[in-house]
Amino acid sequence: EKKKLHRFVGVKPVTPDGKTIELAANISSLKELEVALRAGAVEVGLFRTEFLYMDRHSFPSEQEQFEVYKAVAQKLDSHPVIIRTLDIGGDKQLDYFEIPEEDNPFLGYRAIRISLDRQDLFKTQLRAVLRASHYGHVKLMFPLISSVEEVQKAKKVLEEAKQELRQENLPFNENIEVGVMIEVPAAVLIADLLADEVDFFSIGTNDLVQFALAVDRMNEQIAHLYEPCHPAVLRLLKITVDAAKRKGIPVGVCGELAGDARALPIWLGLDVDELSMSSYTILQVKERLLRTNQEDSRRLLDDIMKCRTSQEIYDQLETFNANVD
Ligand code: PEP
Ligand code: MG
Repeated sequence: EKKKLHRFVGVKPVTPDGKTIELAANISSLKELEVALRAGAVEVGLFRTEFLYMDRHSFPSEQEQFEVYKAVAQKLDSHPVIIRTLDIGGDKQLDYFEIPEEDNPFLGYRAIRISLDRQDLFKTQLRAVLRASHYGHVKLMFPLISSVEEVQKAKKVLEEAKQELRQENLPFNENIEVGVMIEVPAAVLIADLLADEVDFFSIGTNDLVQFALAVDRMNEQIAHLYEPCHPAVLRLLKITVDAAKRKGIPVGVCGELAGDARALPIWLGLDVDELSMSSYTILQVKERLLRTNQEDSRRLLDDIMKCRTSQEIYDQLETFNANVD
């Protein structure tokens, strides 16, 4: 099976009726990039930088981060990498950075909230990302955005970092693209406003599903309620993609659902630009993409947007996928 899929390495990800969706990799280290490249990825849609901060005793320096980001950018040979700023808190902790115990860590001190609170740490990371942007196609992305103010504050720190680098005569891409993750229902509902602030969206379905349904993504006891194809989630996806389209910015998906081949008709129907996923699913999704029509997917999406339950949606997807030859 693995061998059969291997022939799709190097094949362009286009549907029979001509829709291209970039199939990018989620990585968290340089080592994972090697795996991704072998699996046929040519882009990185999500570089989870928090793993650079884990399993050590202090924060990584600007230089340490720069070297990793630069190596990733260079290895991709001018294909894009989306570097996401630190996303700790929630389930991810650092030994050397104490976060006081919280009743609801996923709703707590995490991700962009930490970065905006600790602008010293944030700016160090932004400087490293900016410096790496000189060596390839680097894009920058902020996690867990829930308001326009957060984006504006983050961009202000980015501007400061740029100004410092200019003064130090360090090269970087002045026009680095800046995006936000859409993973909080509030961000979906103000997607049109956020789109005015940024160059791209990436939908994080892992958190979005958790917050939309009020189902802790780590809690086994309620795992059966964690329903990525819930009608409410589909509506949130549609609002997000429609807003991005109206504002003319690209929209990708980087949560687990992006790598689930069964969900591919949803993304084709919505007309997203990129799917970013674990390396091992890229060829499976590509194989399916090569024989799924976008026009058929659009019709299916119209139907499943009318479904009243997750089960109905799964049934429709299953029937559709069984008929894709
Ligand atoms: C997500 O929430 O979907 C996502 C991609 O981010 P993470 O899984 O790292 O929280
Ligand atoms: Mg997330």
